[in-house]
Amino acid sequence: MRLLHYERNAISIVTTGVNTKHIFVTGGVVSSLGKGLTSAAIGLLLERRGIRVRMQKLDPYINVDPGTMSPYQHGEVYVLDDGAETDLDLGHYERFTHSLLSRDSNFTTGRIYSRVIERERRGEYLGNTVQVVPHITNEIKASIRKLAGPEVDVIITELGGTVGDIEGLPFLEAIRQIPLDVGRQNCLFVHLTLIPYLKAAGEAKTKPTQHSVGQLRQIGIQPDVLIVRTERELGRDNAEKIALFCNVDKNAVIEEPDKEFSIYEVPLGLVDHGLDQLIVDKLGLKAEPLDMSQWQDLLHRVRNPEHEVTIAVVGKYMQHKDAYKSIYESLDHAGIAHSSRVLVKRIEAEELEREGPESVLGGVDGILVPGGFGMRGIEGKIDAVRYAREAEIPFFGICLGMQCAVVEFARNVLGYPDANSTEFAGDSEHPVICLLEEQKTIVDKGATMRLGSHPCRLEPGSRAEQCYASDLIHERHRHRYEFNSEYRARFQDAGLLATGVSPDGSLVEIIELADHPWFVAVQFHPEFKSKPQSAHPLFSGFVEAALNRHQQRIHAAL
Ligand code: GLN
Repeated sequence: MRLLHYERNAISIVTTGVNTKHIFVTGGVVSSLGKGLTSAAIGLLLERRGIRVRMQKLDPYINVDPGTMSPYQHGEVYVLDDGAETDLDLGHYERFTHSLLSRDSNFTTGRIYSRVIERERRGEYLGNTVQVVPHITNEIKASIRKLAGPEVDVIITELGGTVGDIEGLPFLEAIRQIPLDVGRQNCLFVHLTLIPYLKAAGEAKTKPTQHSVGQLRQIGIQPDVLIVRTERELGRDNAEKIALFCNVDKNAVIEEPDKEFSIYEVPLGLVDHGLDQLIVDKLGLKAEPLDMSQWQDLLHRVRNPEHEVTIAVVGKYMQHKDAYKSIYESLDHAGIAHSSRVLVKRIEAEELEREGPESVLGGVDGILVPGGFGMRGIEGKIDAVRYAREAEIPFFGICLGMQCAVVEFARNVLGYPDANSTEFAGDSEHPVICLLEEQKTIVDKGATMRLGSHPCRLEPGSRAEQCYASDLIHERHRHRYEFNSEYRARFQDAGLLATGVSPDGSLVEIIELADHPWFVAVQFHPEFKSKPQSAHPLFSGFVEAALNRHQQRIHAAL
């Protein structure tokens, strides 16, 4: 009976979108090898060869999604148009490829188990013992094959974590089985590992990679391609040794040295080692000749900036390189758009509280306060806004950053000293930021914020409208609190304008200061829609304003 059920499931998996092929990207030896970036780079190369890709990430942790995790644990939570709260690697996928992403593009153990348990409760497995193999593995396979279809040539599925993790096993078992369903020739296993260089021995060490591949082979997966991260050049001898011990073709050991300069070098490095052609050949794909000229132009501009500008980002997790990942990337994109290098000064809001704004912000060309949650550092962020407003430094507030700007203005211009967000002071006499109406009855924390893409109308003639060159935009949100519209007229009269509102007029999405070189704050997250070759219009406008300030200061000093 169980076998019958399993077969039925397997057949339904095979029959959907039979022509779509698979690339699976696994990681070995250590985490943080840049698997997300490498997967995105593979997607980019295939797209440049005319192949239609869909990107996907499987995360073996138990949380249903990363939305409830601290940035310390997980880095940024990346939000998609459909409101899915996902892993930050999906940001790399969107920035490097045109792959459509949705909540089907990121699965966790928690999500897979929830589905299986729901189905069990509905009686869909009546009579059976529900087990990791085949029920969990079938659910994983179905979640991967769901992306297949006539409009997709290749699904690139990245598996989070490192081979050897206990929680990754069902995922590895599932991807081991997919070739049985769709044909081995339609699947490619790419394994990313590290070859450490031991200074004392003066040698690159291949043993950890051999062990990692050994572990994969024990599970039944023979990698087709090894991408090895190296600190120093590997040399042909080592590459051949790895090929022999790991049972892969010599030309399928691809070296990926550390890129000190820019992440945009990664795809070009892979091309130099022939990875695009290797994949095309191994999967028997119909492909066009590779054209990387646009990407080379991009890299040229990154390497040869004409100007430099310093932007302070005032937040909470400044030691964590990935906590505001998309913001840093978007600032880079805006720099590229203006042939400039953007230097980011990361400032802990609590440091600003201790040291005062002048000592930490003096000399910067622009100030950005990003999104966030919780009380810690909030007064430092508010001080940063005040400093930007009074010293006429270009200011960009994002989500919590906009809320801080509203509180600052209420306190220091409208004259309400206790003005606050009800997130931080429930009993404030002037709750200028308050809970969204729809949030008032919500108890659960997971996936319950105002999430995903929403339309917004822009005020004609506003700075925002000038930046976007459009009066209707769609941006992604992730928040529970909003501008308290009862105060709108008072702010407006004092010069803080609501220049972007929801189409029904009820929610303020963008505010601007009329009397300031560049002071724009938004309730949404523009950083999720910026790309290297098309910087987000607001980031671009902000960096341009910062560049102007920089130039003015240079001239004033002459
Ligand atoms: N904590 C604020 C809210 O929930 C801001 C959220 C954010 O910055 N993403 O509204």
